[in-house]
Amino acid sequence: MNTPLTSSSAAASALPRVAVLATGGTIAGAAPDAANTAGYQAGVVGVDQLLAAVPALSSVARIQAEQLASIDSKDMASALWTTLVERVNALLASADVDGVVITHGTDTLEETAYLLHLAVKSAKPVVLTAAMRPSSALSADGPLNLLNAVTVAASEKAHGQGVLLAFNNRIHSARDVVKTSTYAVDAFQSPEIGALGWVQDGRVEFQRSVVRAHTTATPFAVGAPWPQVEIVASYAGVSRLAVDALVAAGVRGLVVAGTGNGSIHATLQQALAEAAARGVAVVRSSRVGSGHVMRNGAAPDDALGFVSAGTLNPYKARVLLMLALASGVSDSAALQRVFDTY
Ligand code: ASP
Repeated sequence: MNTPLTSSSAAASALPRVAVLATGGTIAGAAPDAANTAGYQAGVVGVDQLLAAVPALSSVARIQAEQLASIDSKDMASALWTTLVERVNALLASADVDGVVITHGTDTLEETAYLLHLAVKSAKPVVLTAAMRPSSALSADGPLNLLNAVTVAASEKAHGQGVLLAFNNRIHSARDVVKTSTYAVDAFQSPEIGALGWVQDGRVEFQRSVVRAHTTATPFAVGAPWPQVEIVASYAGVSRLAVDALVAAGVRGLVVAGTGNGSIHATLQQALAEAAARGVAVVRSSRVGSGHVMRNGAAPDDALGFVSAGTLNPYKARVLLMLALASGVSDSAALQRVFDTY
């Protein structure tokens, strides 16, 4: 579906052109009762309706809209990731598109955003947005988030900043941002590092920029079959059952959500060391939620053939590991360089 939404004024023809790709989520959710969001359904409101709820958009950008999917992002899958990356790359390769906005559920947004940050091949702005309250709720947060996302995507200042999240007036880098609340409207943070900037009343301000390589400066692409990479966790009393079953099933990589500084229960560490010796890529991340995992800190990475995820949480580390394996990188020293670069 393609929906041109243009203002009739002459000034409108000079506005930047922004493509809005809708994938579902709570921003497109609806509930029978505006005061009670408990029974709402994600992804049931179409992109035309989302755009129509924000008339101010027509003075910010010339918009074309596509309904790419209508899912609850908890169900995000690699096939849709491939479609999304390919569509964003195709749109941005066109001289008729100046930026892209993606509406997405909050649950897996940090994974999709980081995937795009690594696999989009353009310096033009790509901005995700979402909502914590369904479109039918009292004080729904989606309309302002959508307006702010389009404002950022239409801004020259967002060029070359990698993939961004515009949410609750803040602008975050896709690399660092994570969901940190199950219910609050201020649900996203970039732990320790903080937001890149803010957007308010049509004004976009960046206060810092991303230094790690992204978008046009990465070798990553989607298209090949996605390597099977799973996440396991370390916790009191953990067994080696899950690791052994995954290795027997032929998994290519394992990310471990370790305790503290990526430390791993001795039982699990033994199973992972055996997996690494059999050629499975093993990446140590942390379940803590902030900080970084130091190489050779809480586990002897050199001796065991493990890789440290640095500041990436397990979910983002899985995205990078899949792309790295798909690009042909598999030995632990080369994988460590990948994790030190992106
Ligand atoms: N379950 C929803 C989703 O991720 C939650 C949200 O969008 O806030 O699609």
